Amino acid sequence: MSPHVGVLALQGDTREHLAALRDAGAEVSTVRRLTELNTVDALVIPGGESTAMSHLLRELELLEPLRARLAAGMPCYGSCAGMILLATEINDAGVPGREALPLRGIDMTVRRNAFGRQVDSFEGDLDFVGLDEPVHAVFIRAPWVERVGPDVEVLARAAGHPVAVRQGRMLATSFHPEVTGDRRIHKLFVDSLE
Ligand code: GLN
Repeated sequence: MSPHVGVLALQGDTREHLAALRDAGAEVSTVRRLTELNTVDALVIPGGESTAMSHLLRELELLEPLRARLAAGMPCYGSCAGMILLATEINDAGVPGREALPLRGIDMTVRRNAFGRQVDSFEGDLDFVGLDEPVHAVFIRAPWVERVGPDVEVLARAAGHPVAVRQGRMLATSFHPEVTGDRRIHKLFVDSLE
């Protein structure tokens, strides 16, 4: 049976992830409320704006339940804003009271808008551990990873910084594979669920 993967659909590029996950062989649905979160085997947190998503998670009383599911081992893949939220610690998290809130799925420190300070958006081909051909990576006001814990594997780097990491069945990328039509990273995640 295909794994049932939810896509957090509060804000951001939900539709692209739903399509990518379907192509990768998952059964998919959107998650906007607790009853929906409770029905999925795994979750994708899309790109968008991590501060806005954090605010909505709190407003909708999803923040602590989601932290609890991640602490209990629910597999999760976060891209860009999703990577930021999956961290244990966020640098440049934003204005206090409206800041990005860590969900603590992956033992890492990320810096929000890290590349954005140099150049807002850029693309490049990256070597990716476990994939034979490079990945064409699209970065949009992207974070990078500044610290990883001992159980975190770095899968790709850009400008010397980790931009794709895995810890058990938690995966995060600074870039947006959902927008390129390359389904290998979604497939890596979906295949890990079986
Ligand atoms: N800069 C955004 C944030 O802080 C992330 C950008 C993105 O997801 N493309 O959440």
